[in-house]
Amino acid sequence: MTSLIPQQSHALADALGLPAFDKGWVWLAGAGPGDPGLITVLGAHAIQQADVILYDALIDKALLGLARPGAELVFAGKRAGVKSCRQSDISRTLVALAKKGKRVLRLKGGDPFVFGRGAEEALTLARARVPFRIVPGVTAGIGGLAYAGIPVTHRDTNHAVTFVTGHGADGKLPRLDWRAVANGSPTLVLYMARKTVGAIAAKLIEAGRGADEPAAIVSDATSGRQNVVVTSLGKLGEAAPGGAPAIIVIGENVRLRDGLDWIGAMAGRMLEPWPLGREKISDAG
Ligand code: SAH
Repeated sequence: MTSLIPQQSHALADALGLPAFDKGWVWLAGAGPGDPGLITVLGAHAIQQADVILYDALIDKALLGLARPGAELVFAGKRAGVKSCRQSDISRTLVALAKKGKRVLRLKGGDPFVFGRGAEEALTLARARVPFRIVPGVTAGIGGLAYAGIPVTHRDTNHAVTFVTGHGADGKLPRLDWRAVANGSPTLVLYMARKTVGAIAAKLIEAGRGADEPAAIVSDATSGRQNVVVTSLGKLGEAAPGGAPAIIVIGENVRLRDGLDWIGAMAGRMLEPWPLGREKISDAG
């Protein structure tokens, strides 16, 4: 792995007016969902400047190749069912390293403030009076779906989208008004829901959603291993098991994949020019 030539990265930082990463600071940055190219310029800048990088399980390791020589790289991952670091230990480590005067980068998958406990870590820093910056990232529930050719919104299918986690802090279904969720938003995007999606689908159907509504499971989204299964709400429970991280989307917008599966098109798939039919308003442009 080669680091960027320093002059090049300084030129980019100068041209864009990127902030300096000062000693004793913690930056909490999102790395995007998988494809390393989806990190933001500010996120890449942070990797290049950091003295210590605590990174998550879902980070593409190519990103760590941007680190400066001698930077300390610490795995601080959490994955369902796998023995991993305790949240309190990670937060305490961030504080201790910053107080030693290091530039500390906490690099997380997707966006640090979307179902990623980034806010919990940042609050620990705030309580310890450690200065910090948040660097947003591309979240799996938006960018991951885009790589599957599924737009989170389209004016013919949904004027709203709701992001839902498949389990609460206790590992069970989150306490939500499922009837309101079902009726309030034509498109639902589920994170961390592989185990609970059957139960969630049942609640949505009970609340009036159609069992034949389109749904998709996008696993390892944006990576070379990306896999997309298109199914229906009623069959989601059978289709979901597996080990890889997955985003699940329910709603008519899933049908747009027939016209927008750009990765499939690169492999020879013929795209459907009118995936919703010819009569839709937005076809007028
Ligand atoms: N902060 C992250 C989400 C962390 S929660 C973000 O903004 O994307 C972890 C969950 O995110 C996983 O269980 C899965 O639902 C989703 N996820 C993260 N990366 C993913 C990927 N590459 N493909 C599919 N789902 C992913």
